[in-house]
Amino acid sequence: MADVLSVINPATEALIQEVPVDDGAAVAQKFKQAKQVQPGWAASSPADRIKSVLRFRELLIERADSLAALLTSETGKPITQARSEILAVPARIDFFVENAAQVLAPDRVYYEPASALPGMGMLEEVIGYDPLGVVANISAWNYPYFVGGNVFIPALLMGNAVLYKPSEFATLTGGAIASLLHESGIPKDIFIPVIGSGLTGAALLEQPIDGIFFTGSYATGQKIAVAAAPKLIRTQLELGGKDPAYVCPDADVAVAAAGLADGAFYNNGQSCCAIERIYVHTDVYDEFLAAFMETVRGFTLGDPTDAATYLGPVSRKPQLDVLANQVADAVAKGATLLCGGERPDRPGWYFAPTVLTEVNHTMTVMQEESFGPVIGIQRVASDEEATKLMQDTPYGLTAAVYGTDRDRAVAILGQLKTGSAYWNCCDRVSPRLPWSGRGHSGLGATLSLAGMYTFLQPRAWHLRRF
Ligand code: NDP
Repeated sequence: MADVLSVINPATEALIQEVPVDDGAAVAQKFKQAKQVQPGWAASSPADRIKSVLRFRELLIERADSLAALLTSETGKPITQARSEILAVPARIDFFVENAAQVLAPDRVYYEPASALPGMGMLEEVIGYDPLGVVANISAWNYPYFVGGNVFIPALLMGNAVLYKPSEFATLTGGAIASLLHESGIPKDIFIPVIGSGLTGAALLEQPIDGIFFTGSYATGQKIAVAAAPKLIRTQLELGGKDPAYVCPDADVAVAAAGLADGAFYNNGQSCCAIERIYVHTDVYDEFLAAFMETVRGFTLGDPTDAATYLGPVSRKPQLDVLANQVADAVAKGATLLCGGERPDRPGWYFAPTVLTEVNHTMTVMQEESFGPVIGIQRVASDEEATKLMQDTPYGLTAAVYGTDRDRAVAILGQLKTGSAYWNCCDRVSPRLPWSGRGHSGLGATLSLAGMYTFLQPRAWHLRRF
């Protein structure tokens, strides 16, 4: 295992910093520390835990500018999008805080007074909720505040200790999150950053942890599931997607084009719920394509520290080859390249926004996650054809239908195996709704009340008094 990992700025390819890596022994020591103090944290008053989380909320707002600059420097995320991510976390915190006391409270589900059964005494049945214990949170780099916060905030509120491994591509942000939480009053041994690459993540899984909450690719998610299986611990996997959208013949084409272009290219397409495939009814195909291309041509690619930039570099260099290979495969099989398809002539890991038409499902661009600024648009003749194509991948994270008829959209979306279903919107997450995937998109849910109960285990109390 390397002693340090190098944090590189994707926009300039310059070294930002070398960060010491936790080896297996360091990971084991961190687990031991967390294990020792977690019972005390679980026994602390929920009000005190809430107070610390609310202080964290305040600090995020106060320091949004400097935190956003750090995130932009190591991921290449455009600065306005980095700020938006950080400033959207408070709404999620509000949801968790508002519901924490109710979720943690024991539920008395049955009561029998002593008089009802002579000689049997009073009977009470209560469901209590215990935290899992020490949980591991292995996180992705594309939205470290969102995908991390969806896990570590409710996990902490519910009384767990968290060993948090940020992606090696968002390591400095992971460190900043830890410092902020500690400054807010979360004890240092209750939220512990574990720094390193996938090897460090694997070392974390070797510890006798009580739960694993992972965000990342299907390929790594499978490895996590295999490593976690013998432990019989709560295993939650938030994985990738190949998220489709369908534009019905009665859609407001301008709205659909603007919404779907943003859904496909926001954060450079590096969102689990980015639009990755678009099917357009032939009746509105030409009109939609013209509006879509106009929006895409209006996107500014450039320095991610510039507030005018909408498209920065991709965050990981190897992704450039994935994107180039998908484009080459599509073109070789007959696709038309309407724009992009190559790296612009400038330093940094940039890939020009790319739109492919005349695509079909023999092409990798319509089957495998692109996770970059590449989109395929396919013409379809009917709702049935669109529905069939939308289902034709092993993923099931989100799906969108644009059109004026709600019943029609709900009927189409209801046939799909998808964790989130959007009508006239896309690439949207709400703290009040569960975030979950079907098939290769994952297991379990974050956000909503389900995403709070997942950090607890129920205990059945049978209480009799004579
Ligand atoms: P990866 O699967 O490459 O990595 C995810 C995390 O796992 C990283 O912290 C990584 O460390 C770590 N890791 C890698 N190998 C192992 C291993 N063998 N054991 C333990 N941990 C390991 O995904 P990315 O970070 O590239 O994230 C992008 C993917 O995440 C996309 O597929 C995207 O769709 C998905 N995603 C899903 C979301 C959802 O909510 N469903 C949200 C956001 C992203 P390191 O990076 O240091 O190698």
